[in-house]
Amino acid sequence: MNSIIKLKSRPVGLPKVSDFEFVTEEKPVVGEGEILLKTKYVSVDPYLRGRMRDVKSYIKPFQLNEPIESGIVAEVISSKNTNFKEGDFVNGMLDWKEFQISSGNGLNKVDVNKASLSAYLGIFGLTGLTAYISLDKIADLKVGETLLVSGASGAVGSTVGQIGKIKGCHVVGIAGSDEKLALMKDKFGFDNGINYKTTDDIQKAISNACPNGVDVYYDNVGGEVLDAAMNNINKNGRVINCGAISMYNETELPIGPRYEGILVRKTVLMQGFLVRDHVKEFGPAVQQLAQWVQEGRLTYEETIVEGFENIPQAFIDLFSGKNKGKMVVKVY
Ligand code: NAP
Repeated sequence: MNSIIKLKSRPVGLPKVSDFEFVTEEKPVVGEGEILLKTKYVSVDPYLRGRMRDVKSYIKPFQLNEPIESGIVAEVISSKNTNFKEGDFVNGMLDWKEFQISSGNGLNKVDVNKASLSAYLGIFGLTGLTAYISLDKIADLKVGETLLVSGASGAVGSTVGQIGKIKGCHVVGIAGSDEKLALMKDKFGFDNGINYKTTDDIQKAISNACPNGVDVYYDNVGGEVLDAAMNNINKNGRVINCGAISMYNETELPIGPRYEGILVRKTVLMQGFLVRDHVKEFGPAVQQLAQWVQEGRLTYEETIVEGFENIPQAFIDLFSGKNKGKMVVKVY
């Protein structure tokens, strides 16, 4: 039999496990030109929350009573497609199903001898690519500059901070626990960290940790942390809007301060980024990330949750910061 996870109801506020439905069906049978896939690792990502809303966006919303999809690494267990053979591993956007049929379109083969399968969903997957390509396109990092990053112990943020160190920057990370600050300093080489959950005055904490001001702010969280960073931004600063997880579960968008004055006075560049707009750059970006990992200049952390049935909870746990580094679910 085959287990499938569908969207049962559109979450209001923080998603609940009861917003998802577990369905059991017959295991599918492979047809001509198709492959049968067994799910190995599932990526859970904050942006999936946006797809659970019935609104027009850069990517189509999930439909009720249909499977959720996300980045998945799967094994080909049966093939009637000449491009794939049994035992191949592939990576792509696939459904939350234990087993599924695919035409192979949109899937990339991954080499288990070059990296662990889960790494293809993190450092060598969309989160690593997001960090590398967004910095490359927008940040214009210079030696000696200060890079401030929020969501700093997560998948994107931890990679951003380390690339900042490779580029010779003073790197300060903002995260939600002292354990995460220790990880940022000890494992990822950040210069300093701020626990936004225990800091009374985040704006002052940023100015203390960044004595020369902030040249580049990499924003993964939005909201009050972004406001505090904007009040510390330097002349000709750059702000990369990668995500705004602090607002993903809001039922009404809070009204924040206006930035026009800061942008003009400080001639700041503030730019949004979507990794899916940069597919053509994935090849060289992965090569650079792999080289840094091989040279020991870039590393990564993963939080691996076991069991297909735990996918929804692992996704929900992103919003309370249960993960360090990339959150993935190991299915088989
Ligand atoms: P992640 O950082 O590995 O995990 C999410 C983290 O967000 C949690 O561990 C938690 O850490 C923090 N968080 C949760 N709620 C928060 C809140 N209310 N305020 C502040 N921090 C909060 O996730 P990721 O995959 O690397 O994604 C990070 C951001 O990048 C997200 O906003 C995501 O949507 C965005 N993203 C964008 C693109 C793109 O193409 N634009 C691609 C990938 C990801 P703490 O313990 O520190 O709170």
